[in-house]
Amino acid sequence: MQRERVSENVYWFQSEIYALVTAGVIAGPQWAVVIDTLAIPEETLGMRDFIEEELRVPVRYIINTHHHADHSWGNCFFPGATIIASDLCRQVMIDRGTTALETAKKQNPGFKQVKIVPPHITFDKGTITLRVGKKNLSMVPTPGHSTDGISVLVEEDRVLFAGDAFLPLPFIVDGNLDELVLSIKRIGKMGLENIIQGHGDIILRGEIEDAVKENLAYLSAIRKAVRAAARRRNPLEALAEVGIESCGKSRVHLGGLAEELHRRNLRALYRQYQEEEQSPEK
Ligand SMILES: [Zn+2]
Repeated sequence: MQRERVSENVYWFQSEIYALVTAGVIAGPQWAVVIDTLAIPEETLGMRDFIEEELRVPVRYIINTHHHADHSWGNCFFPGATIIASDLCRQVMIDRGTTALETAKKQNPGFKQVKIVPPHITFDKGTITLRVGKKNLSMVPTPGHSTDGISVLVEEDRVLFAGDAFLPLPFIVDGNLDELVLSIKRIGKMGLENIIQGHGDIILRGEIEDAVKENLAYLSAIRKAVRAAARRRNPLEALAEVGIESCGKSRVHLGGLAEELHRRNLRALYRQYQEEEQSPEK
């Protein structure tokens, strides 16, 4: 697991095992806030050890940026902590979490100790703020990667933990492209020092503008490609020819996962497009 100090009392963790997934910690004098847990239990426990032994504070709150397993299934390793997330995140974790976990346990014994712990405090629209030490953490909805997504801004440092609303390759299979475009535009206007992506490396101030443009261009390119393919005699064959590079992204992102995620984006978008075309309102 990689670890880095982002600013005073703000730390970043990145998995070396699963999809470069990230998590964060903001430490106050008496207790700490964790932003997302890591995908592999051992790595979440490693993060907990660092907080308790090096920073010497207990974890009082965990903020889940969204419900996906790689960001929220470590909640159970902080039994005293209060979990904060969006209303929707809580709902989805209650509705689907247990079944998903049962399936995962059959495939991977590493999840044996995992339990689903849904959020205790939730919000719907607007923002909520949590004060830890000298820092204000404000939470805002940033849906699109998933409907329940939120980001956490460390106001004093202008550091944004974006969850999967910001990724080296935007991923919309469980979400909505138009919503993600709005979220990325919103993030682009925040005047940030760093964007902490849900997967991948920290984006520095000087890189933010280009990263925002590149992600918006990618989303616009896949939307166009799917619409063009839909008009062809064999849409799925046409889609299979749409390479990731032709949509402005490199295949090396996310440790080689990018190409597969790109394929899944195209197929999901095509399905959504077909559903829209068939809906009676049109
Ligand atoms: Zn993720």
